[in-house]
Amino acid sequence: MTAELIDGNALSKQLRQDVAARAAALRARGTTPGLAVVLVGDNPASQVYVRNKVKACEDSGLHSVLEKYNADLSEADLLARVDALNHDPAIHGILVQLPLPAHIDAQKVIEAISPAKDVDGFHIASAGALMTGAPGFWPCTPYGCMKMLESIGYDLRGKHAVVIGRSNIVGKPMALMLLQKNATVTICHSGTKDLKAMTLQADVIVAAVGKRNVLTADMVKPGAVVLDVGMNRDDAGKLCGDVDFDGVKAVASHLTPVPGGVGPMTITMLLVNTMEAAERSASS
Ligand code: NAP
Repeated sequence: MTAELIDGNALSKQLRQDVAARAAALRARGTTPGLAVVLVGDNPASQVYVRNKVKACEDSGLHSVLEKYNADLSEADLLARVDALNHDPAIHGILVQLPLPAHIDAQKVIEAISPAKDVDGFHIASAGALMTGAPGFWPCTPYGCMKMLESIGYDLRGKHAVVIGRSNIVGKPMALMLLQKNATVTICHSGTKDLKAMTLQADVIVAAVGKRNVLTADMVKPGAVVLDVGMNRDDAGKLCGDVDFDGVKAVASHLTPVPGGVGPMTITMLLVNTMEAAERSASS
């Protein structure tokens, strides 16, 4: 078997066209959807991420504001900026780029964002909404994974999904989303005794670890769907995921590539969440 690749760039293009159409419709009613991206410090990777997010907004007809601060910005000043953005009617989504400098309590800053503008879905109210099935914003990366499964018409009911990784931003919300769609879910982590015994039972595997070759072909049931969230570098410095791509491609039915898989979907779902926030605000 050769796995069919789930193309995150192509799916993103479709979803961003839909966002652009919704943004145009909302603008015609007098509201321009707006995202504020806050960057503290000069982490090079963060600078690339925020630039991509701002550009994606512009390309889809969303207003975006990039607020850049020096690494010595105090926690109190950052909280004051978040408060001002919470009250700014032109801003519907607020994203504080992580990581923050060590002297700032990132969780405190996230909790200061109004849940109505928490388009990253990291606020404890958003996590609670996801857990209970209430309306709220879903974290972008696992949300993007769900859209990828939807794009291949995959019905999760009764399927066994194994999520490798239990972070608050990927693994745990991923597991809850799969559960909400009626999969039977197993969550694996660094304390899991026999990862292979778990993944071999899976109809769907989501790898979100951050280590190359965590999932190899011998660990995958023939025909399983494999989503690779990981972002790592191989020996040649090339971007790669957590999955041994060439090996698993010969066993899985569907597989997401790295790059060009889950990565582009993350920014796309940020646009979708911002659009949703603006529509909710306009109709409230
Ligand atoms: P994280 O916070 O470091 O979490 C990694 C998880 O993997 C932890 O739960 C850890 O277990 C688990 N783990 C570590 N070694 C393991 C092993 N040998 N077997 C099983 N589980 C193991 O990372 P994250 O933020 O969730 O991100 C995971 C990966 O996704 C990273 O490569 C990151 O760069 C990437 N990522 C990509 C996107 C995207 O847009 N494509 C977005 C976000 C993240 P413990 O909890 O026991 O430590």
